[in-house]
Amino acid sequence: MQACLASGWSLSPPVLMTLLVCFGVVLLAHWVTRQRDFPERDSFILLHLASLWWMGAAALEMSFFAAECKMFWASMAWPGIVSTPTFWAVFLWQYVNSMRTPLPRSSILGLSLVPLLVWALALSNPWHGLFYGAGSAPVDDSPGAPVRYQHGPLFYATAVYVYLFMAFCMGVVSRAAALSQGLHRRHYLAFVLVTAVPWVANVGYVVFGWTLFGFDPTPFSFAFTLAAFSWLIVGVRLFDLLPVARHLLLEALLDPVLVIDPRGRVIEANPAALKLAGLQQGWQGTELGQWPVFGADLQRLLNEAGEGDQERPLTLTSAARYYEVRVRAIERATRHGPTLLGHMLYVRDVTQRHLSELKLAEALALSEERLRTISNLHEQLREQALCDPLTGLYNRRYLDEFFSRELARAQRENLPLALALIDLDHFKRLNDECGHLVGDDVLKAVAKHLLDNLRSTDAVFRIGGEEFLLILPGLDAQAAMARLEALRTQLSQVGQPTRIGTLPVTLSAGIAIWPAHGQGLDSLLQAADVALYRAKRDGRNRVEVALPPAEANRAR
Ligand code: GH3
Ligand code: MG
Ligand code: MG
Repeated sequence: MQACLASGWSLSPPVLMTLLVCFGVVLLAHWVTRQRDFPERDSFILLHLASLWWMGAAALEMSFFAAECKMFWASMAWPGIVSTPTFWAVFLWQYVNSMRTPLPRSSILGLSLVPLLVWALALSNPWHGLFYGAGSAPVDDSPGAPVRYQHGPLFYATAVYVYLFMAFCMGVVSRAAALSQGLHRRHYLAFVLVTAVPWVANVGYVVFGWTLFGFDPTPFSFAFTLAAFSWLIVGVRLFDLLPVARHLLLEALLDPVLVIDPRGRVIEANPAALKLAGLQQGWQGTELGQWPVFGADLQRLLNEAGEGDQERPLTLTSAARYYEVRVRAIERATRHGPTLLGHMLYVRDVTQRHLSELKLAEALALSEERLRTISNLHEQLREQALCDPLTGLYNRRYLDEFFSRELARAQRENLPLALALIDLDHFKRLNDECGHLVGDDVLKAVAKHLLDNLRSTDAVFRIGGEEFLLILPGLDAQAAMARLEALRTQLSQVGQPTRIGTLPVTLSAGIAIWPAHGQGLDSLLQAADVALYRAKRDGRNRVEVALPPAEANRAR
């Protein structure tokens, strides 16, 4: 070093410029160390340390005059030269794949082995001459003239190693640019450009012998790289804006969100998720099944979800709160179709909605119950309105409705319809002798007797004190007569049960048939009444059929 200093040195413009670039790189690296949300920070800093080393050595090579000194500093540059593409590749790979875990120390050491080996080989060149050939010499006799190197086999071997990384870098950013869209595509295209410039300069130097101030232009091209990165970082703010915006969104979300990697480990959880789980730190990498709250349920949901999105929400309950979980697959489009990167679990607190739904369901059930009660009551009222409270038989109010229905049916089916007016005999006397209550008992017993002997199509009405009306669809005069006779005989043969024992009761009846004796209810009732009157007159306990209208008129 002393000898080199003694042999002369100068701070020429290229040297000053290189130092300026070095200073810029230091500032950039410093800025990056302060970025909290810049996961690829380690490799980014290593990349800049490597290029700083390279440019520092280049500046020293340029500033010293003696050729041996220049060659010494050229050899010193090698760890920087080899590390730069190495860590550039690592950085781009991490950045493009959004890897959030820092590079393990063992990987950094492993990747540093070749740069260190190359460094040792370059420094030991004076002994083996395999890196720079004996023909390496200053281009001319002027003081501080740059050295033109004669490259040996080890140099080319190193160049191949370096170019492999360069090709990898270009591949990674070009692929990212091709697969992304819009703002992201422009962002990655800028990366392609920033990555390409130093390598173009390097290939130009090694293959075509391009030089700048008589030196390798690669370190100088870092001036461009630096400016471009500064623009991308400070000007466009994509580096920090996008991840920070995404992160802010996640942080600000009131609902818990978990991000699960393909191996089922939790790699991201927002504050809401941590709060729900009661966790603070040390949770990264936890198996989802072991997650404190809902772990097993979420794992099950994830298993069911398979590779796609799970739209069917799962409702979970904890501490009287209700949650709904949706699974979303995180995929990246590739040439071979979508590749699964992991899953996002979105847990929504639906307590309010759930409680409202419960209340609504309760209210609905209650109002349905009320509606049922009301319609039951309504039905009862209607029954009551249409039924006689003493005997339970239909009363007059229902007669009109029932008759018109039966008449319509009879007309439709072309069948007769019989009406029988029944009146109990000497009922007044029974009332007078035994009392009104006993009379009521008899009315009930007769009503039962009538009901017990009806067909399902028949109907019986209580239309007056001790008067009943039978409607017998489909019966002609003869059949109706037979039915009524049977009713009458049975009644007269057995005593009717009352509170004072069984009492003998008889009835008289008058029959009228539609259409023979009348067309409507009134005329038929009238005809039946006349027949009944005849039965009474002829001695009671009898059944009479109305006369045909012609005869009836004559009889009057
Ligand atoms: P007839 O053989 O001519 O029909 O003689 P009757 O005594 O039955 O004469 P009528 O039909 O005029 O008598 C009806 C009696 O029925 C009058 C009334 O005291 C009685 N009655 C009417 N409604 C009721 C009732 O709801 N309960 C009781 N116990 N008796 C009633
Ligand atoms: Mg009467
Ligand atoms: Mg009577």
